[in-house]
Parts: sequence; C-alpha cells; structure tokens
Amino acid sequence: MIGLMPFLAPLYAIIIAIVAYFGIKVFVGRRKKQIQKAIGEGMCAVCGARIIQNKCPNCDTPKTG
Ligand SMILES: [Zn+2]
Repeated sequence: MIGLMPFLAPLYAIIIAIVAYFGIKVFVGRRKKQIQKAIGEGMCAVCGARIIQNKCPNCDTPKTG
C-alpha cells in the first residue's frame, strides 16, 4: 500500500480536481438558473430594472405587443 502512495497521491489530486471542477460547474449552473429565475427575463440596460415580458417597467411605456 505504501508502495502505491506515489501513484495514488496524484491520482487523488486529479480526482479531487475533477470533482471540484464539476461541483463548481453544477453550483454555477444552479446559481445561474436561480438568478435567471430571480431576475426574470433579464435586466434593463438603461436603468437596471427587471425586464418583464420583454419590457422595462420604468423605461418602456406600457403598450400591447
Ligand atoms: Zn429601464
């Protein structure tokens, strides 16, 4: 077992790196989804308000279509 240590150590490092990489990917993906849900369809480039139905409630005057 001790003879395998020099081989296992980098293997563990690689496994930990891969797990951390995918862990972060999943974490970021979930956060992105949460943020997208939280801000709806996006942010207004002018005032930074939430975009609702492709319109900014502050900048766009309410009109159909
Ligand atoms: Zn706006």
